[in-house]
Amino acid sequence: MEARISRRASLRSLAAAPLAALPSQAGIVRTDRGYIDLRKVRLWENTRKEFRESLEGGTLKAVIIPTASTEQHNEHLAMIHDTASVTLVAEQAALRLFPQVLVATPVSIGVSEHWMDRKGTLSLRKETFQNVVFDVAESLKRHGVQRVLILNGHGGNIAPLKEALPDFRAKLGIDVQFNSYWDAYTPEIIRKYMDSNTAPGHAAEFETSFALAAFPERVHWEKVDYERDKGRFGIKTRASAEQDEKFAKEARMASTAKGEAMIGIAVDWVANRLQQMISA
Ligand SMILES: [Zn+2]
Repeated sequence: MEARISRRASLRSLAAAPLAALPSQAGIVRTDRGYIDLRKVRLWENTRKEFRESLEGGTLKAVIIPTASTEQHNEHLAMIHDTASVTLVAEQAALRLFPQVLVATPVSIGVSEHWMDRKGTLSLRKETFQNVVFDVAESLKRHGVQRVLILNGHGGNIAPLKEALPDFRAKLGIDVQFNSYWDAYTPEIIRKYMDSNTAPGHAAEFETSFALAAFPERVHWEKVDYERDKGRFGIKTRASAEQDEKFAKEARMASTAKGEAMIGIAVDWVANRLQQMISA
């Protein structure tokens, strides 16, 4: 019953809202190719029969591996933010290119050593993270996938992935590309939509806007009192504490409309990137 209600609610909101602004929960989504079950672009929700037939029929052209984190996102955002946001962008881009693109199971813990002074952060060692991403890409290659886009949603993963990419390519011998979804944002776009003139930042105006637009249930302002609690955060360096406070203030500039605009831009950009890979 609950599932039926939420599906109806999600269809209703689809009719009124831009596609990308929708929560990435299960259900039917409206696209310019008609209604598509979101399950179909999620590798982990496919059956082996569906995956095999899509490969054998030549329908499946590329797979996205979302990489992100489980880490502190200041006082008000859920720790899963980066994983939820990059997965949403990946899924919406895959829907645009349906049925040519699948999204692999997100790598939901990344390299977050720099946030370990704030409670709750989970972090992998750089080599562990690189190995996990490689093994996922290699699994896909062994099944016959020819193009992989590693789509990242966490800043701490960028250097490890850039470092490992030449090795991934040499060992796999397929087309492996890497981007963070915010590569979509030019300085002009950031200036236009972000009053803080900052994106992605961290749990600040951009990410809070993203969450408000895509999954407001992960924004928890209730009972947050930054001033009262800031002596208890345990932040190791003064510079980092200042940045944390700056981001907390900028988060208050967030809005659903800003999030919708920025999500739409990222989805367009990632869909284009995939289209280029497929047409190359
Ligand atoms: Zn984040």
